[in-house]
Order: sequence, then C-alpha cells, then structure tokens
Amino acid sequence: MADFQTPALREYPIIPLLHEGTMAHSRPFVAKPEHQASVGFPGELVENWEQKAVDKLGELVSKSRALQVFLDSCVKCGACTDKCHYYLGTEDPKNMPVARQDLLRSVYRRYFTFAGKYFPKLVGARDMTKDVLDEWYTYFHQCSQCRRCSVFCPYGIDTAEISMAARDVMDHVGLGQKYSNEIIGKLHKIGNNLGLPEPALRDTLEGLEEDVKDETGVDVKFPLDVKGADILLITPSADFFAEPHIDGLIGYAKVFHAAGASWTISSYASEAANFSMFIGSHDNLRKVALRIRKAALDLGVKRIIFGECGHAWRVAYSFLNTLAGPFEFLDPKYPVPQHICEYTYDLIQRGKLNFDKSANDNLVVTFHDSCNVSRASRMGDMPGGQFKIPREVIKACVNNFHDMAPDTINESTYCCGGGGGLLTDDLMELRVKGAMPRMQALKEVVDEHGVNHVAAICAICKSQYTKVLPYYKFEMDMIGSVHGLVSKAIRLNPVND
Ligand code: SF4
Ligand code: SF4
Repeated sequence: MADFQTPALREYPIIPLLHEGTMAHSRPFVAKPEHQASVGFPGELVENWEQKAVDKLGELVSKSRALQVFLDSCVKCGACTDKCHYYLGTEDPKNMPVARQDLLRSVYRRYFTFAGKYFPKLVGARDMTKDVLDEWYTYFHQCSQCRRCSVFCPYGIDTAEISMAARDVMDHVGLGQKYSNEIIGKLHKIGNNLGLPEPALRDTLEGLEEDVKDETGVDVKFPLDVKGADILLITPSADFFAEPHIDGLIGYAKVFHAAGASWTISSYASEAANFSMFIGSHDNLRKVALRIRKAALDLGVKRIIFGECGHAWRVAYSFLNTLAGPFEFLDPKYPVPQHICEYTYDLIQRGKLNFDKSANDNLVVTFHDSCNVSRASRMGDMPGGQFKIPREVIKACVNNFHDMAPDTINESTYCCGGGGGLLTDDLMELRVKGAMPRMQALKEVVDEHGVNHVAAICAICKSQYTKVLPYYKFEMDMIGSVHGLVSKAIRLNPVND
C-alpha cells in the first residue's frame, strides 16, 4: 500500500470542492533514450524544442479537422467538469476535462489564432515554455482517454484526442513516457507487450492444455502457428499468464472446442494491445496493426477474432481496416474483425453451446463496461451491441446478475482508473483515486444485492481492479473475465474429441 489517502466511498456521489495542485506531483517515469529510440522518437529534449513542439502541434491540427474543432469550439459551459473520475477522485481542478484541454488549447491559441497572436492575455493564450511542457507531462498523464467527458459535452469535444495529441507532441520533442514506449518497443521486437518469445508461449499453451485435460477430461487444444486454421485469435498477452485473464483464454478455447472450430494463435502477432493509440502515434499504431495482417496472411486464415481487450477492440473495430486493410483475403461471410463475445453470443443464439449455470452459483455478478468498448466501438450488428452482447453471454452462464447504477454503466461507464497508458506502479496514487467513482458504484451493488464478482472484457481493467480493489476493502479476486464465467459453466462433450 502506498503512502496516500484512499478516497472515502460515500452513499451518494458528491462533486468535490477544488483543491488546487493536489496532483501536481504525479508524473510517470520518463522514457529512457533506448525506449524512445525503439518507437522512433528522440532520446531526450531536442534543441529548439519549443519551436519543434509548436510545429508538431500545427501539423496535427492541420491534419485533423476534429482536433481543430475540439480546440476551437469549447464555450466553457462547464458540463464536463464533474464527469472525469480523476477530478472526482483527486479534487485537483486541472483534472476537470475542460481545464485539461485548456493546457493545450492555450498554446494552440497563442500560435494559431489571430486573437492569441495579438492579444494573448485577453484569450488566455500561453507561450510554449518549460513550465507549460512540465504541466502537460503531469496532467496529460492523468487522463485515461476514457472519453466519458465527451458524452456529456454538448459539442462532443473529445478530451482523449487532445490528450493523445499532447503526448504525440511531447514524444516528438524527446519527452516520452517510459511505461507505454517501453512496451510498444517490446511489441515491435518480439510481438507482444511482455516480450514473451515463441518457445515460452508454446510452453504456456501446452501447460494450459494439460490443465484443462485434468479439469475436464477433454482434450481442448490451444493451437499455435497452425497454417490453414480458419480463425486467427488475437488476444492480449496478459491472457497467457496473468490472473484472472488466463481463465478468459481457457474460456475462448473451450468455446472453440465446443463449436468444433479450427483456430490458432500466432507467435508473430501474439498481442491484441496497441499502446500506440495512447501516445497518439499513427506510425506506431500502423506498424503494430500490420503484424496482424502479416500473421493472417502467413497462416492463411479466413477470419480474425479478438479476445477480451478494451482499447485493442477500439483499434480493431474502428481503425484496423484503415491501418492494415483491405482484408479482401479473409472470408467475406464474417465481420473483420470480430469480438470473441460476438462469436460466443452467436453460438448461444443458435443453441450450439451447453451451459450449467449452477457452476457459477457461488457468484453474484455485475459487469464493468470498459471505456473503449463502450464509447469508441460497437459489437454485433445492433445499436448498443457492445452493452448487450457481453451481458447476454454472462446471463447465459450465471443465475445471479445485477447491473450497477444506470448513470455508471453503458456509455456513461466510469473508467477503472488504469486505462490510456496509466497502468503503471509509478502512478498508483492516481490509479487508486481515479478508481473511486467506479468503486462507489460497485459498493452500492455489493451492499444492496450481495454482488461478489465483477466481470470485465478488458485486460487493463482486470489488472487495475486486482490492484485497487484492496484499497477499497474489496477482495482482489472479485474481478474476472467474462469468458472465465463461460469457462466454468460450459459443458464439453468428450465423445466429440
Ligand atoms: S477522457 Fe476520461 S480521463 Fe480524460 S478528461 Fe475525459 S473523463 Fe477524464
Ligand atoms: S462540456 Fe464541452 S463545451 Fe462545455 S466546458 Fe466542457 S469541453 Fe467545453
């Protein structure tokens, strides 16, 4: 437990009084030159960085009409101010979305608007100075890019895009974040965030086959690099070893087995996550996405299915075709890509899976909607499928389910507090405080309905919950994978083996 005060959980949410500067000390570790080099950025602050930062900002604004509109159109109505979990949990006014935006908007105004050039003080325009850069580094690493604020903004201003732009500018002048950049570098080199090489991955998967055989008596396979398989599974590497993620991977394998599907994992593209989105780097985003294309082509698969990972699903659903398409070589009968929940839901709808819900009768379950799935993607061919499908999968596997309060789920879901490249121990205070609104909503269903299990479809959410639940006096193993529930309830038929 770190040395800070965990926020109190209250019966009703309150908008906190402002406590200026409470999180001014919070900064993630800065990337070392080798981490910067691995993602194509300068190792340290470059000469004439002020001008280079302004130039980069100008380039981003000229390329993205959305960014320009977001920077130009805020009317300071205040609707977003109490919508950010980091403001609610830290009470630092710079964590209000509008204030966070203004850290960058003030510089944009100074160099790219008439009023800012000639009457800077009148319009709150600021020069690009070292103090400004430091403030950016501090507070743009207190935004999980969850987009909750944008749901409530009458103009749809997306602070996540502004936060990505700020990080992109900082990377370009040599000030990167260690956690994200080191991870992206590993992915480029080895194929996954963990730096897990092919032999270790193969061992892990063989071990899982033995475990499932011991548990069920059934030969459920975890195939690796199988040429000619129908399905390529792209899943977060945390699924290969972390708890509770691994139960999800076992669940996917059991579903594939029950469906008689031919599938494989790729050792070349053994990672669904793409942290390049967090740092706003299009070049890195594309480079990572192209690994998936290459793996699909090399293995000759017909379809691509993504495992449980929130931001990976956003990148896949919203950007994969633009980044690495067209995928004309895949079977056009299936969406490209498809989410594992869509796949399982479809089998459930067609009566292809057998469940014994009582296997989960020790659990009273709620569902945590992950931000990137909820507010930046969809699932299936129905509006709101990203909310409905995971819940329908859960309800097929459990007898006891209760949603959290309506203003804390679906498109209004609260971030777990660890998204957007903030899932690092050097930001633990921020992560714990930012989790407060989610923990408060959780406490309500724990007290009212006896909820003792949270299911999620995001690797980051699962890791973040595991760390922060104990700070709020919950059991750390309350969090699980949706396909962990599937895994426990599904009935496999050994006769088919
Ligand atoms: S995107 Fe999320 S974390 Fe960032 S300011 Fe908005 S609500 Fe806060
Ligand atoms: S809700 Fe939108 S327009 Fe209003 S202050 Fe926030 S960002 Fe500006």
